[in-house]
Formats: sequence, C-alpha cells, structure tokens
Amino acid sequence: MERQNAWKTYTKKQLKELEKLNKNYRVFLDAGKTERECVKEIVKQAEAAGYVNLEKILAKNQSVSAGDKVYAVCMKKTVALFHIGTKPMEQGMNILGAHIDSPRMDIKQNPLYENGDFAYLDTHYYGGIKKYQWVTLPLAIHGVVVKKDGSVLEIVLGEKEDDPVFCVTDLLIHLAGEQQEKKANKVIEGENLDVLFGSIPLKEEEKDGVKEGILKLLKDQYDIEEEDFLSAELEVVPAGKARESGLDRSMIMAYGQDDRVCAYTSLAAMLEVEDVKKTTCCLLTDKEEIGSVGATGMQSKFFENTVAELLDAMGNYSELILRRCLRNSRMLSSDVSAAYDPLYAASYEKNNAAYFGRGMVFNKFTGSRGKSGSNDANAEYMGALRKILDDNQVAFQTAELGKVDIGGGGTIAYILSLYGMEVIDSGVAVLNMHAPWELTSKADVYEAKKGYVAFLKEA
Ligand code: MN
Ligand code: MN
Repeated sequence: MERQNAWKTYTKKQLKELEKLNKNYRVFLDAGKTERECVKEIVKQAEAAGYVNLEKILAKNQSVSAGDKVYAVCMKKTVALFHIGTKPMEQGMNILGAHIDSPRMDIKQNPLYENGDFAYLDTHYYGGIKKYQWVTLPLAIHGVVVKKDGSVLEIVLGEKEDDPVFCVTDLLIHLAGEQQEKKANKVIEGENLDVLFGSIPLKEEEKDGVKEGILKLLKDQYDIEEEDFLSAELEVVPAGKARESGLDRSMIMAYGQDDRVCAYTSLAAMLEVEDVKKTTCCLLTDKEEIGSVGATGMQSKFFENTVAELLDAMGNYSELILRRCLRNSRMLSSDVSAAYDPLYAASYEKNNAAYFGRGMVFNKFTGSRGKSGSNDANAEYMGALRKILDDNQVAFQTAELGKVDIGGGGTIAYILSLYGMEVIDSGVAVLNMHAPWELTSKADVYEAKKGYVAFLKEA
C-alpha cells in the first residue's frame, strides 16, 4: 500500500515540464497575494486563453454553445471558468474547485493610533493562525481603498525592492521570562497584532505628531484621508516572493499556498484541456478560511446562479435542467492536506498521512472527532477516480488530517455535495500550513496538475 516517491520516476522531459510549471506557479503566487489579486491574475490568464466575460455575453444578448469559453466573477473575489462541452449540460460538468483566500491580518476600519512615539495600524486576523508566527517578520500591505466617489485605490506596499516593509514587534528575550511561561495561544494576543507604521513626529504638532505625520504622508502620496480606512480592505501579508527551497530545489516556499497551490494547478489544467466532451468548470472561491460564508463564499448562490445564466444563454434553461446539471456533475474539491512532518510525528498516523513527493492527495473524508462536518466521498466515486489516475500515470496518495481525535478541518466539498453531485477532497500536501511561509513539493504540484487534466478530459 505504500506509495512511491514520484521523483524516482521522472524522465528528463518530465523534469523539464515540472520545472516550467513550478516557475509559472511562483509567478502566480507573486501576482496574487490576496483574493482580489488572484481573481485579476486568473481573469488575465483566462482571457489570454480565449475566455469571455459572461456579463459581456449577457449584455449583448449573445448565445453560448459547445466549444465556448466563459468566465464569471463575483465581486472581484470569486471566479468561475466554464468550457462548454459537446455533451448536453444536463449530463453534468467536471468541476475543479479550490479557494483563493488565505490566512492573514486585516487592517481594522479605525486602525491608526499613536503610542510611545510610534504610529500603529490595528489589525484583526483572518483565518486560523498561530499568532506567535506573525511577529518580527517583514510584512507587506495589499488591498483597496474605496473613496466616497467610488474610485478605488489599489495598494501594494512592501513588495518592491525599495518599498518600506512593516512589522509586528515581539518582546525581547531578556524581558520575556513571564511571557515564555504563557500558553502558545496567549504568547501573542490578538489585540497585540498591531503593525508598526511609522515613527517621525511632525515638528509643529504637540500631541500625536507621529500619527499626524503618517496622515500627512497618506494624503500627500496616496490621497488617502483617515476616514477612507472606513471603506478599505487592506490585508497584511508576509513581504517577499515565492522561493525555491532545499539544496536540491525540490520545494516551493511561499505565502498563501493554502490554497493557491490547488487553485493554480486547477487553473493550469483548465486552460490546458481542449475539445471537451463534458463541460469543464474551474471554481475558485473566497472566504473558505472563515467558513465559506458571505456573497463571495462557496455557500452563496453565485455558482448556481451562474450555471443558470449559462443554461439560459445556451437556450436551454429550466429549473429541472439546472438541478440535473448540478446533480450529474462530478467535482474534485481541492484544498491542501497536512504533509507528514517527521519532527512532529506524534500528531500523524503514518499509514494514512500525506507525504511530500508522493503525488496528489485524496481525502475520502475530512472533519473532526468522528468525521463531524465531513463530506465523506463514495467508494464508487473513488473507484472511478483510481482508474482515471492510474490510466494517466498520475502519482497519488490518500490521507486524513492527522491522528483520530487530534484535530481536524473542513473544506468546500460538503457544500457542493448538497446538490447530490459526487465530490471528493483532493489536493496537495503542505508543510507549515497557515504559517507565514508554507512549503510544498514541486513534484506534488506537477502531479496535481496532471491529475486535474486527466479528470477534466474524462467524458
Ligand atoms: Mn485551505
Ligand atoms: Mn486553510
């Protein structure tokens, strides 16, 4: 039952393909450090591959038919791509799903304050993080500031070589005797995740001169007033690019690989597969890290509404056809898996863990404490997938998230399964999950993309 390490199997040609894919993956990671930036990059790549915005098609009252490539965006944060197949939509789609939001610190609506001759930006973290991992690192700020007139300022600060970077400070070891006694989840308190933003006071100001100096800079350089923070979405993320890791350069170290490693490989497969019989779909969503809620999360009606619009544009809409299309679909719901970490072996069960280099990961179920909250995929579906993967020489492994009763987690799989479609959790193994810098294996990135291609081609 032990799965082979895929690195042992590669030909020169495959290694070349692997390196090319991983290079493009790093470019994608650098272009998309927020869900908004990811949607922009995905739309750019989709349009270059011939995809047309569904809004445009609807505005012109145009029809959609087999062979067409269409995309739809929800509030600049979630995106769905469709490649219409020759088979009727009623027979279902082959769907790849993943999420493009990642853990981070979001800047509060009233964030700016001064204390001890420092100006700070107050944050509220997003998603599950070990707070102590997010201090004393160079940080960047990405996001948008929307003015009252509706104009949108796009901010990326801390990524260029000569940009300033930001930081959350931590207490020096010399004074940390008491702090070091605390539990890890209390060592750094959520309210202490404040970003150090400046330290020069304005000469003429008597009170809060540093804050005033920052406000003057914001006004002069960006035309941002303090009240504009009220209508801003600014995300604090680790500064810096995705890098190769290991002396053998076998791994990728980067921020946000949960779940952009699955999003990117799904997108790459979607753009690669031509002449589809079943309609293919790639659905890349927001808000997974906080429960898939809100208009841009998987629980919203965006996806269902978009499929309805598509059917209508194909001249074939009815409520029943929509239901049949969704029910007859099959999905690989992709999210990262916990990679086996020998330094923390006690948290894993070795026979059912995901290993770096052993390929794409399938989690028949997720959840915690007795599979609670899990979409438990059907054996029949897994059987069919095994055939597809083996026929296409895709390296894959099966896993669950750690030992029984030690923790757990959820994905978007259970939401799509409500339509009665076959859904399974799949994806790529990650080390340091939810840390500022996460690790993946280049081989797993390569095998995941291969697996998605094989899945999409399946009639
Ligand atoms: Mn995830
Ligand atoms: Mn996650």
